[in-house]
Amino acid sequence: MQETHKCALCERQIEPYQETYNHLEIDETRSADICQECIRKVVKLHQKNTAALFPTKTAKRFLKE
Ligand SMILES: [Zn+2]
Repeated sequence: MQETHKCALCERQIEPYQETYNHLEIDETRSADICQECIRKVVKLHQKNTAALFPTKTAKRFLKE
């Protein structure tokens, strides 16, 4: 039986699943699987928030890309 992994955020099936990339360990008892698309969105949001908090030239340049 093949194990399937669903994204904790969008609930879509993660394909292909890579544990090192898609599996997030929160603590010893909790963990979540997140798909590539959601990881990309979270990273983008984080970059945007970081840039707003620390408006450096590097961050601004990064956001334009
Ligand atoms: Zn997702």
